Amino acid sequence: MGRVLIIGAGGVGTVVAHKVEQNAGVFTDIMIASRTKSKCDDIVKSIGNPAIKTAQVDADNVNELVALFHEFKPEIVINVALPYQDLTIMEACLQAGVNYLDTANYEPKDEAHFEYSWQWAYHDRFKEAGLTAILGCGFDPGVSGIYTAYAAKHYFDEIHDLDIVDCNAGDHHKAFATNFNPEINIREITQKGRYYENGKWVETGSLEIHQPITYPNIGPKESYLLYHEELESLVKHFPTIKRARFWMTFGQEYLTHLRVIQNIGMARIDEIDYNGQKIVPIQFLKAVLPNPQDLGENYTGETSIGCRIRGIKDGKERTYYVYNNCSHEAAYKETGMQGVSYTTGVPAMIGALMYFNGEWKRPGVNNVEEFDPDPFMEQLNKQGLPWHEVFDSDLEV
Ligand code: NDP
Repeated sequence: MGRVLIIGAGGVGTVVAHKVEQNAGVFTDIMIASRTKSKCDDIVKSIGNPAIKTAQVDADNVNELVALFHEFKPEIVINVALPYQDLTIMEACLQAGVNYLDTANYEPKDEAHFEYSWQWAYHDRFKEAGLTAILGCGFDPGVSGIYTAYAAKHYFDEIHDLDIVDCNAGDHHKAFATNFNPEINIREITQKGRYYENGKWVETGSLEIHQPITYPNIGPKESYLLYHEELESLVKHFPTIKRARFWMTFGQEYLTHLRVIQNIGMARIDEIDYNGQKIVPIQFLKAVLPNPQDLGENYTGETSIGCRIRGIKDGKERTYYVYNNCSHEAAYKETGMQGVSYTTGVPAMIGALMYFNGEWKRPGVNNVEEFDPDPFMEQLNKQGLPWHEVFDSDLEV
């Protein structure tokens, strides 16, 4: 019996639901719960399996969550709501005895700041309860950590340089849109950059450091150094790392829109008074921007995300590049969602599958790179995100 509860019915939740349904041998009982129940019902309709249950839940409310968990009795919750809900869902999992998985680390609503400390603090309680929590199991974080663990296990005695390179060379044919929740996306990109070097974090201006990087089947794209949450856990779990950085591509149009949004105050996350009503500008902006879930239909092109690694094996320096390219059109054909939701939702499903087949059962709070990467890498090839390796090439970074 594999009873799974998916929380969140956005782009990622839709992909998770489709992939869970495709693996019905493992996931025998499925429920999708979210703030807006009609969105859960729409997903069930698009999948065409009326046996999938749906429910309304406010995931900011621990008591509501616990009541739902007692009613459905899931073995694991796949949290693909927003990072704001991580702690309430973890708390409810502890109270109801449910295992936990997410794709993004906790972020307080009133501060654009994310770090693992809040979730790592739950480690002892999960361990004592005999419950497994799997943190950051999307693509990045997620597959980026599993690629690194795979490289460390099979190809390196010591990893020295790690560069995670994330390219979206797709075109959704809109003037401006974000590929996942606009509020979370804009908060992530507009914060200061940060990377790890020789035991210290080095801060940069927002998108200050950039260079062209060549992506397979795509070509050179200007790539910008950002802080990304998996850097924090990867330098902790692979202490030989001397430098760790994260790069993401952006087009000029996107950056121009982003600059204007910031300059006119629409990226603000504090409350303002509007005609006697309190509103948060970035939340208002989300309401008028295209819904990331609706981008799939005309999305062309592909994503390419991978790890470029330099290190030592048997006393010699070597390089390794492992990556996946994902077509937006193929993702849409399969799940009705674009490639960014697809590359996040597939690993989330695989993480839960790893839990159910016993490969990734470890009481406590764990980042993905702490588990054996091999069975996960095998599943990536089977579940729609095949990977490719390049040895001893010029890493460019
Ligand atoms: P969406 O905004 O499309 O979906 C979020 C869903 O969560 C919506 O259905 C929303 O409900 C629901 N939700 C929000 N607040 C609550 C609440 N209080 N109670 C219950 N449900 C709630 O986001 P995405 O699907 O694009 O992203 C989902 C997650 O995936 C995010 O955490 C994002 O950061 C993460 N992500 C991770 C990536 C990775 O590679 N690791 C990449 C991309 C995303 P409603 O419909 O009512 O608004």
